[in-house]
Amino acid sequence: MRSYEKSIEAYKEAVTLMPGGVNSPVRAFKAVGMNPIFMDYGKGSKIYDIDGNEYIDYVLSWGPLILGHANDRVVDALKKTAEKGTSFGTPTLMENKLAALVKERVPSIEIVRMVSSGTEATMSALRLARGYTGRNKILKFEGSYHGHGDSLLIKAGSGVATLGLPDSPGVPLGIAQNTIAVAYNDLEAVRAAFEQYGEDIACVIVEPVAGNMGVVPPKKGFLKGLREVTKEYGALLIFDEVMTGFRVDYNCAQGYFDVTPDLTCLGKVIGGGLPVGAFGGRADIMEKIAPTGPVYQAGTLSGNPLAMTAGYETLRQLTPETYKEFIRKADRLEAGFHEAALKYEIPHTFNRAGSMIGVFFTNEEVYNFETARTSDLDLFAKYYRGMAENGVFLPPSQFEGIFLSAAHSDEDIDRTIEAVEKTFKAIRG
Ligand code: PMP
Repeated sequence: MRSYEKSIEAYKEAVTLMPGGVNSPVRAFKAVGMNPIFMDYGKGSKIYDIDGNEYIDYVLSWGPLILGHANDRVVDALKKTAEKGTSFGTPTLMENKLAALVKERVPSIEIVRMVSSGTEATMSALRLARGYTGRNKILKFEGSYHGHGDSLLIKAGSGVATLGLPDSPGVPLGIAQNTIAVAYNDLEAVRAAFEQYGEDIACVIVEPVAGNMGVVPPKKGFLKGLREVTKEYGALLIFDEVMTGFRVDYNCAQGYFDVTPDLTCLGKVIGGGLPVGAFGGRADIMEKIAPTGPVYQAGTLSGNPLAMTAGYETLRQLTPETYKEFIRKADRLEAGFHEAALKYEIPHTFNRAGSMIGVFFTNEEVYNFETARTSDLDLFAKYYRGMAENGVFLPPSQFEGIFLSAAHSDEDIDRTIEAVEKTFKAIRG
């Protein structure tokens, strides 16, 4: 058995210092009934906790580390940038470089603004959509997470077009009531919402591959349908590519699915492990942002030199070949998982998009939040603990995807499949 003694000690101290001992809730490992694991360092596909346990890492800091941990080129570039000073609050050349690269890679982005997190990107894009259209309501999808901005922290019950109730105390009802939430992949529900509220809907915000209810790809025609209905009603289409951007494909999910949104939100990979978000899109819309336009948005550390450096050096190392390799490795992982699950009669559904993978412990097709919730959460918790014990680090929640990095080797995949096999065997006891 692995020892987690030092993590247990560290967590005892942490709970006296931070809410729940953590700076972001899911790090508390509540859903899987484990003490949070405190990490010490990482290299490539591996991370090491403060007790000295090694893991193959499929969390990758919740997505950003597409090249793996402590990538040499990223680290070298960061050292050089740090030596020149860490922040100026003035324009720097590195901002131009990253912005130009983003514009080149993301088909719909003509102008981009850098911020410091995915939450900031989505909040700012919503304000811009409302400012640009002069409308109040937004439409999102149940089970989609777009950061913790008030307008977006809305779950909403099932039903065709339920006006939102706040998911969290502190979100004013007045704000929540301007959010409409419908089921993912349900174009009819979207159309019905537009028929009812279309005059006042500023935008539809969608994860082009949902990644916060586990991984749920769009059904054929869903994204194109959103493009059509938003155009018809004069609302903006916002792709929240915080998770999918530069992960699902070389030109992001929008390139892969060939659908052009009006605005795109980015985060995670674009910062290569440092705090970066961005939103961008059509020039005529983006020019409404201050200082060219009246919609206010700003940030002391926006475009921070270290953050821009990590993003630039990360994106520069990604090639179309990188994404082909992801598919090959994910095929291998899926085949191994499937075989082990069949052998031990574990119900499972495997959803994928590029290097995003979602494993659900159900035999039902998973295409929205409701079907994602058919996954057996007890089984997930057992699977999680077994995988950790066998040296594989997964996100401690059923409703998160796992990620591959360019540093994951075939040997890592094979070791992971062995861990799956051992875990299922232990579960079936
Ligand atoms: N949008 C999506 C699709 C996300 O997955 C996330 C974070 N998981 C966010 C927005 C929020 O990003 P951040 O945590 O950087 O604020």
